[in-house]
Amino acid sequence: MAEGYDLVIRAARAIVGGEESSCCIGVTAGRIAEVGAYSAPAVGASALDLGDDVVLLPGLVDSHVHVCEPGHTDWEGFAAATRAAAAGGITTLVDMPLDSVPVTVDPAAVTAKRRAADGQCLVDVGFWGGVVPGNLGRLPDLHQAGVLGFKCFLADSGSPDFPPLDAGGMAAALRVLRDLGVPLLVHAESAQAAAAIPEATGRKYADYLASRPRGLENLAIAEVIEAARVTGGHAHVVHLSSSDALPMIATAQNEGVRVSAETCPHYLTLAAEEIADGATAAKCSPPVREAANRELLWAGLRDGIVDLVVSDHSPCTADMKELASGDFGRAWGGISSLQLGLPLVWTEASRRGVSLAQVATWMAARPAELAGLHRKGQIRAGFDADFCVFAPDAPVTVDPARLHHRNPVTPYAGWDLRGEVRATLLGGEPVDPARPRGRFLAWGEAAR
Ligand SMILES: [Zn+2]
Repeated sequence: MAEGYDLVIRAARAIVGGEESSCCIGVTAGRIAEVGAYSAPAVGASALDLGDDVVLLPGLVDSHVHVCEPGHTDWEGFAAATRAAAAGGITTLVDMPLDSVPVTVDPAAVTAKRRAADGQCLVDVGFWGGVVPGNLGRLPDLHQAGVLGFKCFLADSGSPDFPPLDAGGMAAALRVLRDLGVPLLVHAESAQAAAAIPEATGRKYADYLASRPRGLENLAIAEVIEAARVTGGHAHVVHLSSSDALPMIATAQNEGVRVSAETCPHYLTLAAEEIADGATAAKCSPPVREAANRELLWAGLRDGIVDLVVSDHSPCTADMKELASGDFGRAWGGISSLQLGLPLVWTEASRRGVSLAQVATWMAARPAELAGLHRKGQIRAGFDADFCVFAPDAPVTVDPARLHHRNPVTPYAGWDLRGEVRATLLGGEPVDPARPRGRFLAWGEAAR
């Protein structure tokens, strides 16, 4: 180690190289210049000394966030979402291409998004582009405009501006994206299978669950796998809920098919048996399934079949959640958990003997890799000096009044969790709500 760093961090506990150890980190110009032994001689303009009550994690990367701005700023927005992210230890988020107006399906929409985000973001922000019927020819331009990869639906997205693809359309997109070197994220529920089942109405969670059975996911995921197999493109299954699909994803991965999958805090913490009738705060799609399904998702993570945990922060106004009527048919499907993901996942992970280093891989390193962000998600020389200071043993109780997202509806109100985010650093400096420093991360600029 040397002298002349902007900042020297000495951490009794840090996640480095996939394991927990003590270390000393020299930061210069917003990047990690060097990672050395805890007692290494190093001098900087400022110093941060962390005791053994906290663990220094890489800043988390959440590759599945619906910011909804411009167009639906009463649902969410860049200021509120990035503030919630920072409070949750997230230093990079990637915004989904729908739920805003315009949807991100052409280069002009990327410009509109960048303009809306500019000067508001407390953390770094990237964008996914959308693939919809008819915009295949625009994908290279959209990629050139800076999107990190693409997302499509195989079932109704709930937004008339963002119609689904069929299996052929998905394969055509994968061919284009294979050549661009970026992934296709797929909302994998089958439109055809869904069409045969009436929409649920009323307050019974069991009715809602029965209207979105595992088979909708299983069928669509089989199509995703075969499209990835024949095209050689990278298909990524977002928000996996059906554990039935794990064996076929594993088989495909073993055969060299480029298919990956993520799951979300709600599928790892909630269980259908425990969702009260009328408790529409817990509605999302695909739905939260049974406790036995949840345990199999944990096993899928431990086996490496699923290797990302991201929020699918999917906000709306409080009214749209239909909390008063409790009608699962009318309520918006989506759970907003940017700020709570880490303590939720860590609480359940630690109960199952999973290490914090493993959680950091799922919530930082792997999402960064998916988005091609090669300087994010790890504490390593050359990477951005983005950190989350986490007290893994501190008890916290979820208080909706302390959530920063715009409409703080949550199914976790009153939950007692383990682990508290004590500080979040972006580019070597603490995140300060009065001074938004988040940058736009474009593909190419972000990639090594
Ligand atoms: Zn989503």
